[in-house]
Amino acid sequence: METLEKTEKFVMKTYNRYPVSFVKGEGCWLYDEEGKKYLDMLAGIAVCNLGHCHPKVSDAICEQAKTLIHTSNLFHIKPQAELAELLCKNSFGEKVFFCNSGAEANEGAIKLARRYGTEIDPEKFEIVAFENSFHGRTMASVSITGQGKYSKGFGPMLTGVKFAKFNDVGSVEKAVSERTAAIIVEPVQGEGGVVPAKVEFLKALREIADRVNALLILDEVQTGIGRTGALFAYQNYGVEPDVMTLAKALGNGVPIGAIVAKGKAAEVLKPGLHASTFGGNFLATRAGVEVIREITKPGFLERVKEKGEFLKSKLRELQREFPDLIEEVRGLGLMVGAVMKVECQKVVERALERGLIINCTAGKVLRFTPPLVITEEEIEKGIEILRGILKEL
Ligand SMILES: *Cc1c(COP(=O)(O)O)cnc(C)c1O
Repeated sequence: METLEKTEKFVMKTYNRYPVSFVKGEGCWLYDEEGKKYLDMLAGIAVCNLGHCHPKVSDAICEQAKTLIHTSNLFHIKPQAELAELLCKNSFGEKVFFCNSGAEANEGAIKLARRYGTEIDPEKFEIVAFENSFHGRTMASVSITGQGKYSKGFGPMLTGVKFAKFNDVGSVEKAVSERTAAIIVEPVQGEGGVVPAKVEFLKALREIADRVNALLILDEVQTGIGRTGALFAYQNYGVEPDVMTLAKALGNGVPIGAIVAKGKAAEVLKPGLHASTFGGNFLATRAGVEVIREITKPGFLERVKEKGEFLKSKLRELQREFPDLIEEVRGLGLMVGAVMKVECQKVVERALERGLIINCTAGKVLRFTPPLVITEEEIEKGIEILRGILKEL
């Protein structure tokens, strides 16, 4: 087991890894060094939305890698311009900034919001975020993450951040003022346990942000790129943000992040104010272009909705069979959580042994974020493995 030993010896132990090393992937399936096959219902944590090694994406990045990979943003980059156009034409957006990860996109969005606010009034710099949120691991993104375990021991955090309760309009009313530069929220809290925002809640956030002249920022790093059955989750809600952050599935596995903005928010960042060396390079944006083209093909998102409903109905069958083990099934599209009454890490480990990949979030929620190309038959296979495990608990 050479890879496992080398990782142990030379890689910083920032993750508790499972003793598995994959060598190949295709669609919803992964293969390990021993040739064992796994059904992937996690997709690299909502990243490989088109499945592993999607032929269109793989061909495009191979071709791009042999042609041109990087020139810097001192020059024009054709696939970057194309991806920006695709993102804007398929969303509320007017302008895009490219970076390399979700945390970086949120970091940039915070800087954008602060600049927006302080140009109106030097005291207008506060950010309102939510309890149980997750926005990434950089200092600013961890400062707006409402879960103490991510910031413990890294203080002092960014000041001027207030936390309100998710899905609780009253607590937002208490947190905002004319000093609020932005409200930032995930349409479905991912790391917080797959908790969808209520429609009235997001609508109220829009109204409150407008009233205090603050930006509404949606962190769609996990919910974006078709995950919830719409290209972007906000499209399920009929609420438009001023700013949206993207990453995870935008490159189907090639690192890329983006900030999408409209109106005044789209004009805040001027030459010299924010930058990224790698951001929007040929390789990453070429992948992004293929991803958006595939996901916006007629019928694709309809199928995601259908398969999301199918997965939820199958999990609810399990809930009826095992009422002492499963408390609740919730989610949007193919972002689904099963709240467990038992320790869910044990279920995840047993699933892996039996060739099913899922994970556990917020301590007690089994999370399902399969590739969006998964079939009903594959979903049934995963459910059967899970049923076998629950029977033995
Ligand atoms: C994963 C995630 C991030 C962080 O993205 P990284 O690419 O790991 O920096 C931020 N926000 C949300 C909602 C996420 O799910």
